[in-house]
Amino acid sequence: MRHKQEINFVSIVIPVYNEAASLPELIQRTCAAADSMGKDYELLLIDDGSKDNSADQIEAAAAAEGSHVVGIILNRNYGQHNAIMAGFEHVRGDLVVTLDADLQNPPEEIPNLVAKAEQGYDAVGTVRKNRQDSRLRRYPSMLINKIVKRSTGVEMNDYGCMLRAYRRHVVDAMLQCHERSTFIPILANGFARHTVEIDVAHSERQQGESKYNIMGLINLMFDLLTSMTTAPLRMLSIMGGVIATLGGLFGLVLLLMRMFYGAEWGVDGVFPLFALLFIFIGAQFVGLGLLGEYIGRIYSDVRARPRYYVQDVLVGEATKQARDNGQVANH
Ligand code: UDP
Ligand code: MG
Repeated sequence: MRHKQEINFVSIVIPVYNEAASLPELIQRTCAAADSMGKDYELLLIDDGSKDNSADQIEAAAAAEGSHVVGIILNRNYGQHNAIMAGFEHVRGDLVVTLDADLQNPPEEIPNLVAKAEQGYDAVGTVRKNRQDSRLRRYPSMLINKIVKRSTGVEMNDYGCMLRAYRRHVVDAMLQCHERSTFIPILANGFARHTVEIDVAHSERQQGESKYNIMGLINLMFDLLTSMTTAPLRMLSIMGGVIATLGGLFGLVLLLMRMFYGAEWGVDGVFPLFALLFIFIGAQFVGLGLLGEYIGRIYSDVRARPRYYVQDVLVGEATKQARDNGQVANH
């Protein structure tokens, strides 16, 4: 059952990497949007090893009188998702909102996310209406979102949009995951019970340029896929099985042809060689896939994610009383 849950304190987490040109407007608009909610809030700006004066600006913003800003300065560049995690370590709110520093995600949407979360959702995702990025970015992203949707079974359509909200317990669970490379929106889904998605506006980048080059994007895509599943490894075994079976069938067809149509469908031709080759190639893939299965298991053990995550424990009244009276061992 989904229960309405009021939110009193909102933490807004924004990773910042060389965004000096956007920062003044970002801070001003975000604080204005947060003020309009009439709730307590804090704005965590994480400087991800910027080379411009972003860190100085964040420091000044945090030092200003009556400031809601919390500045977190990393010693070097660790990447967007790690920077957000560093922010998560310091949040105090019951709801945590993330967004990008480049104003592509309008901060004015924050109150909508908070209102949605108050309806009892643990994670609120967003879909960028008329996304303002090049086709080269949009099409691969569409494909990946489809794959993710199929393998996780969670109805979310736009994992690339970082304007999202998570309840505190989801954030706390994410902090218990110790892998080095991660993709936060997907990780969060693993710990959220009720998820929902709303439409948000999207603008073009106004200042500076994207911090991701093509290799960065490919890296991000692999982080996303591997954070979700080890299914690609299993594909190796399946592919190998298919190739070996086809090779075997091919060999069988050749044998039958030779039996019924005579020697020209021969053992001495190149075709039987192909059949044999396919069987061996297939077998190799199966072997690789098996290795992959072990690696996958090692990988998930090394990540040491919590094995399960209990969101609530519901204790009946009589038991509760007995526990309070100390009649039942309390553990
Ligand atoms: N970012 C970061 N560390 C990085 C790269 C990016 O903290 O190494 C931040 C960046 O400042 C921005 C957000 O992550 O707030 C998204 O980056 P960007 O807008 O360049 O990505 P795009 O919108 O092109 O996907
Ligand atoms: Mg951007």
